[in-house]
Amino acid sequence: MNGVKAKTLAHLYKQLKTLWRPVAAPARLCSLAACTRKNRNDALHPLWQSPLTIPGGTRQSPINIQWRDSVYDPFLKPLKISYDPTTCLHIWNNGYSFLVEFDDSTDKSIIIGGPLENQYRLKQFHFHWGAINEWGSEHTVDSKFYPAELHLVHWNAIAYPTFEEAVMEGNGLAVIGVFLKLGAHHEGLQTLVDALPAIKHKDTVIEFDVFDPTCLIPSCPDYWTYAGSLTTPPLTESVTWIIKKKPIEVDENQLEAFRMLLFTSDGEEEKRMVDNFRPLQPLMNRTVRSSFQRRHLLDAEVQPKDRAEQVRP
Ligand SMILES: [Zn+2]
Repeated sequence: MNGVKAKTLAHLYKQLKTLWRPVAAPARLCSLAACTRKNRNDALHPLWQSPLTIPGGTRQSPINIQWRDSVYDPFLKPLKISYDPTTCLHIWNNGYSFLVEFDDSTDKSIIIGGPLENQYRLKQFHFHWGAINEWGSEHTVDSKFYPAELHLVHWNAIAYPTFEEAVMEGNGLAVIGVFLKLGAHHEGLQTLVDALPAIKHKDTVIEFDVFDPTCLIPSCPDYWTYAGSLTTPPLTESVTWIIKKKPIEVDENQLEAFRMLLFTSDGEEEKRMVDNFRPLQPLMNRTVRSSFQRRHLLDAEVQPKDRAEQVRP
């Protein structure tokens, strides 16, 4: 099961450089929300010391999902998730979040359906969270923050030969976003939480095999989807976002365990891993589609029909 044998993996560092390297850049987009949130995160993490946005970006993430502005798309299919727990490899502190990584050399752990044109392979999942419970998620719904957000990152292995190539292309990635809210203890999450003390410091990795992240995804099929970007450098506009409407519940102790992790390496002055989220980005010319109809719309449709039946001779 989930062993705690520490090891260094050169390819992980290589991936870190590939995925989360600074990009050359430019002027900062500053929405009101972004400015508000900037004040909460005074000391900028090294990841963000250079650019906070990309020039000419038109589909950046995260965004605020304005429920009433989302458009129901009856052609959106249910999302099918099929993960093989044995493809889980390890869990590591990369200095910004903790990542659970999977063997993506075959199609053993995939998602298909939803807004996707073909199947996408699971690469890794990670979380974003706040210093306190009032914020922490990257996306918001009607401007409401959740204390944390899970991201399951998949890539289009049908269209691209490698993950690194998929990261650079418009239809390269599909990320499932799941909000975490305070509530009941989450048994599935606890398996992860128990492993966190062993990866407290940046650049520590432990084996973490046989884990099925399906337990972290709400069974409710409803989701929003939109075209966006990575929320960490290189911020490439390659992500089809699938944001689950229903959050999962976790308890206070579990969120506190996230906050005990460190941004810093062993021997450095300790800096707690908190507020590891990107500020909201402008929606620009995008539509957020929903796989479900709003309740009050359904009610509005039913009402006139009922009245018509009443006046029928
Ligand atoms: Zn993320």
